[in-house]
Amino acid sequence: MSNLYAVFGNPIAHSKSPHIHAAFAVALGQAMRYEARLAPVDGFAEAIAEFVAAGGKGANVTVPFKEEAFRLASRLSERAARAGAVNTLCFAGNEIFGDNTDGAGLVRDITHNLGSSLAGKRILLIGAGGASRGVIAPLLAERPASLAIANRTAAKAEALAAAFADLAPVEGGDFGRFAGRCFDVLINATSASLSGESLPLPEGVFASGSLAYDMMYGKGETPFLQLAREQGAGRCADGLGMLVEQAAEAFFVWRGVRPETASVLTGLRAGLLG
Ligand code: NDP
Repeated sequence: MSNLYAVFGNPIAHSKSPHIHAAFAVALGQAMRYEARLAPVDGFAEAIAEFVAAGGKGANVTVPFKEEAFRLASRLSERAARAGAVNTLCFAGNEIFGDNTDGAGLVRDITHNLGSSLAGKRILLIGAGGASRGVIAPLLAERPASLAIANRTAAKAEALAAAFADLAPVEGGDFGRFAGRCFDVLINATSASLSGESLPLPEGVFASGSLAYDMMYGKGETPFLQLAREQGAGRCADGLGMLVEQAAEAFFVWRGVRPETASVLTGLRAGLLG
């Protein structure tokens, strides 16, 4: 039981994490079990306590529990403290260590899998929720030329920009604020694609040859990526690579070994891994 791991969320049945971690474990010869667990919306802390009592060693946390996991942790990594959210928990004795691997996953997918450097690039991050907050510091660490945050609710983008102002100048505002500007990397971190809604991005924001990245995955071409293609983005990518890379980073946090991700990503895309 000491090698028991799980992902907690609500809903959780759709999660690909058990398939991803099972593939990592087989490839690295790690004896471990990884399950998907549905936690009641008002019962996350109890579900974790039960899991730890049963010998659970680590957990991933997804919607809607990342902020609650942040509060539950007795110790935080620096990146989790910055993100204000936790997607990876480690249990050792009485300690609950909270980490956040989402930003590392996004950066690795863009720079390694897609081969697109972020250094010197003009980045537009769209959305000001938990996913956006979690990736800002890792994006800034890549030394882009600039980072701007556009959000439907301007005040949230402005507040988020101010929260990271000690790291680098970050600008925030509503979509209209960025009219007449163009960007090299545009990342959709809103949940608009979940409901098939398009974003009111000003014409011309996609620089020629730009990368359009939607954190959403599994829904075919999203309205954001369709808009990007129509407006001349050079490359479009969904968030499946980010999902696999954040999982690999969590695996490394737990087990101290880093899985190879390319074959797992290929398997997921081919529908071979659930
Ligand atoms: P939150 O609920 O915290 O934030 C939602 C954001 O989306 C807000 O900025 C909100 O704007 C905006 N939004 C929602 N609907 C619309 C709309 N119709 N038009 C414009 N803006 C809209 O969600 P998260 O930050 O947790 O998640 C965002 C997305 O990222 C999800 O799709 C999630 O699946 C994905 N994700 C993917 C990961 C991966 O590994 N690939 C990892 C983590 C997240 P407002 O502030 O105005 O309400």
